[in-house]
Amino acid sequence: MGTVTNPTLPNMTKTIRQTFSNWRKSSNGQSAIQILKRSQRFLCPSCLQHLPQDYHVHHLFPISKMDSSNSNLAIDINNLVLLCPKCNLSQGAKIDTRFSDLEPEDRVSIDG
Ligand SMILES: [Zn+2]
Repeated sequence: MGTVTNPTLPNMTKTIRQTFSNWRKSSNGQSAIQILKRSQRFLCPSCLQHLPQDYHVHHLFPISKMDSSNSNLAIDINNLVLLCPKCNLSQGAKIDTRFSDLEPEDRVSIDG
């Protein structure tokens, strides 16, 4: 259909980002994020500070690496972590290790 291509971002990544963004605003997304917040005890799991208002939703398996076979991970609560902006921008890699220790089963599905 569309012939417009973005030279910096593959179309699939763009589509998945859009899907995630719509989901995050939807009531399903809102309640999933509330569940996540509570399960994290309202803390950033990286620095253990209280999550600020402008927390980021971090994907353990990044959207940029997703394709049509695993794009469901974009809105899979097991693939999401709420981080403070500072940690999301600087220490994302630490989180993956921490969570793989806590959630081995989730880790398997993320790798697959
Ligand atoms: Zn943090």
